[in-house]
Amino acid sequence: MSLSQLARSIRESATLKLNETASLLREKGEPIIHLGGGEPKSKAPLDAVINCAALLNTGEIRYTAPDGIPALKKAIIRYTEDHYRKVVTSHNLIVSGGAKQALMVLLHAILDPKEEVVFPAPYWVSYPEMIKLAGGVPVPVVAEDGSFTPTVEEITSVVGSYTKAIILNTPNNPCGVMYSKDFVHEMVEFCEKKGLYLIMDDIYNRLVFDGKTAPICYDFVKQPIEESKLVVINGVSKMYAMTGFRIGWAVANRHLVEAMAIIQSQQTSGPSSPGQWAAVGALNGVQSSIENLRVTLENNRNVMVDRLRAFEGVKLHVPDGTFYCFPDFSAYMKDSQKLSHFLLEKVRVVTVPGKEFGFDGHLRLSYCGTMKDITEGLDRIKWALDPNSPNELYLGEHKLVREWL
Ligand code: PMP
Repeated sequence: MSLSQLARSIRESATLKLNETASLLREKGEPIIHLGGGEPKSKAPLDAVINCAALLNTGEIRYTAPDGIPALKKAIIRYTEDHYRKVVTSHNLIVSGGAKQALMVLLHAILDPKEEVVFPAPYWVSYPEMIKLAGGVPVPVVAEDGSFTPTVEEITSVVGSYTKAIILNTPNNPCGVMYSKDFVHEMVEFCEKKGLYLIMDDIYNRLVFDGKTAPICYDFVKQPIEESKLVVINGVSKMYAMTGFRIGWAVANRHLVEAMAIIQSQQTSGPSSPGQWAAVGALNGVQSSIENLRVTLENNRNVMVDRLRAFEGVKLHVPDGTFYCFPDFSAYMKDSQKLSHFLLEKVRVVTVPGKEFGFDGHLRLSYCGTMKDITEGLDRIKWALDPNSPNELYLGEHKLVREWL
């Protein structure tokens, strides 16, 4: 079969692949615990469901404008004002099929072949592949001190004449780190000075713990929006637990938004109309679900962190937000893909190898599942790895016998 060079150069999403593996094993009756997932388990807000159902009841489910329905744009304008203290117009935003599509059309709109996009490691698995899909070159930056936070100097030192954009995702998937206010401030200033696009992937910025709040990038922007190359990416997937509706958006200067809308119109037309009406319901409805989710996640994080601290040799940064933890298991096994495979084979726990996020030796563990998933999943991992564990473990009726790594 002859496939394009591009098709052959793009890797499949490791996280989506793991979801598939987990559901296949589950269908076979295997006692799988999924700590690899990237979606909250709470239900979509009732207002979202009602609004979506109201549209479905009309039976008239039609194409929409390629950049989104006016009602959703209006709701996003209000959200941007409430949450970012930033006044934008409907010309400054585009609604897409998830934050992922917003990022993809953005990259298509700004990248010429071989132009580079810089982002700190660890990073979301999709950034490198999406950049390559748009013809660009991904440039991850790893902190020299091994931490999850490269310094401004480390990031700016890789910026050259081919650099077109910098992506910051804070709090960060996979490690839960929230970059400091000063860091975001300096990055905004740097990008303004150099004329670079700064892409803030804010998809987790409402899911922050310990009384902290995510820095608001607009606080540091000096240029008027129509001159600014700041792009803020958001969506309903994480904060409202609405991953399946596939609605995200980008806020940017009008010129860029127009280019993105043209690309999107040729790619997929407008986003799904039931999804958009559901998002209108979520954004305009009762907002308590975000706080309920945030509190649940903070509690889940605490339990996961406590359990991980009981592992000898595991190094851990306590996540500031998201629903992921990114412990360093290299004391047990340096190859994270091997370790993740071992845990799935041996104790039926799904984890995501850190290598996928540019950090080998680590595993991404999600705490967006049930408390039972978290406690039992970590008990199983501990049993599989800790030399002091008993020799046997029962998974339902299955008796497992320890095997040394
Ligand atoms: N950015 C980051 C950092 C993510 O983790 C995700 C989802 N895993 C997305 C963007 C995309 O979200 P969606 O397309 O569901 O809106």
